[in-house]
Amino acid sequence: MRLRNKPWAQDKLNEYPQYVPADPTEYKGKWQSRFEKEQPIHIEVGSGKGQFIINMAKAHPEINYIAVEIQTSVIVSILEKQIEEALPNVQILHGDGSDLSEYFAPAEISLLYLNFSDPWPKTRHAKRRLTSPIFLKQYEGILPENGEVHFKTDNQGLFEHSLESMSEYGMYFKQVWLDLHKSDFEGNVMTEYEEKFSSRGNRIYRLEAVFRNNK
Ligand code: SAH
Repeated sequence: MRLRNKPWAQDKLNEYPQYVPADPTEYKGKWQSRFEKEQPIHIEVGSGKGQFIINMAKAHPEINYIAVEIQTSVIVSILEKQIEEALPNVQILHGDGSDLSEYFAPAEISLLYLNFSDPWPKTRHAKRRLTSPIFLKQYEGILPENGEVHFKTDNQGLFEHSLESMSEYGMYFKQVWLDLHKSDFEGNVMTEYEEKFSSRGNRIYRLEAVFRNNK
């Protein structure tokens, strides 16, 4: 997701430390203290403008959600939504998905979502894909035993790469959808990219993958 530079964005993030902690590493092992209720924490890595996390949080008040996003100019859109909604179960983490073990303690996170991650189609950029082994190791480190990653994309190449990468890593698949919108999956919450790409006729792939911690 590319947006024009917004020089005021960082100032805006600084104005709302109750939603966007200035130093997220301070909360490693203590994220529950940032929410109204102590309940399972789910995160999305690469939240973009935050439509998914905000609507998931509204639909599931029994879960605490953290949006992890690297780009200041994008994360500010999540913040704007949260300022309006003031949801007690949403926090925003300005950071890099490859540093998750610096932000979270082992098993602190119950479930991890990836939605429409950047495809990085060139082989020389494969390490940047959010389903590459470098990232999977980070996810495994913050999830409980048999922790799950739920991933959606319209990009067939990235989906195939992800199936291969996760399987080579030793994960197994609970379920795989080759055409999510034509399936009987209930409770799908659409992301911005999902709305955009499915309206163009692209089909949406989805998978639920599980870490085997006893490998
Ligand atoms: N999930 C949203 C946005 C998808 S675009 C949707 O489905 O509409 C992918 C997003 O991932 C971009 O906003 C990009 O800035 C973010 N991203 C890419 N690499 C990242 C990383 N290493 N850590 C955190 N976010 C990342």
